[in-house]
Amino acid sequence: SETRHILDAVEIDRILKRMAFEILEVHKSTHDVALIGIHTRGVFLARRLRENLQTFAGDLLPVGEMDITLYRDDWTQMNAQPVVKTTSIPFTVDGKQIILVDDVLFTGRTIRAAMDALVDFGRPARIELAVLIDRGHRELPIQSNYTGQCVPTRRDQMINVMLTESDGEDRVVLTTA
Ligand code: 5GP
Ligand code: MG
Repeated sequence: SETRHILDAVEIDRILKRMAFEILEVHKSTHDVALIGIHTRGVFLARRLRENLQTFAGDLLPVGEMDITLYRDDWTQMNAQPVVKTTSIPFTVDGKQIILVDDVLFTGRTIRAAMDALVDFGRPARIELAVLIDRGHRELPIQSNYTGQCVPTRRDQMINVMLTESDGEDRVVLTTA
């Protein structure tokens, strides 16, 4: 397989700082904002955004987690069903400005499942989406409010997001089988 460089550690750090500033531009105050990371890497990204927002605005935002597993053998199958396995949302979502955070946005089905699960918890004032990589191929009318980088891909390609917390380094590459 072949890999192409997309982002290095410095670029990922710069993007997450920029996204924190974009969140502050939209929200002015962060007192009613909460972040929810989508399983492994979205959770790490949500924590990093929280750290940046604390540095830039002073508030320590609540962070929740959702574990959403895709019932499909690989990311290219169109009939996949994302299933919410576990949720950890240690704050009330009522009236909150919720920002879902994920590493890669692809068909949009995971985020749809996340939104379905979220509204079972209560009535957020608004739900937004922040993703590190938008690789295209949407199957639903879903888009991110805060986007690290758009990376045009083929369906059979894969974005490999490596983060220090899980992979020992910060790097994003595009893999062609
Ligand atoms: P979707 O539900 O939008 O089709 O896919 C998004 C979810 O699947 C995200 O949680 C993301 O982690 C994962 N995903 C989809 N495509 C890729 C990809 O190319 N690389 C990585 N690392 N994750 C992907
Ligand atoms: Mg994922």
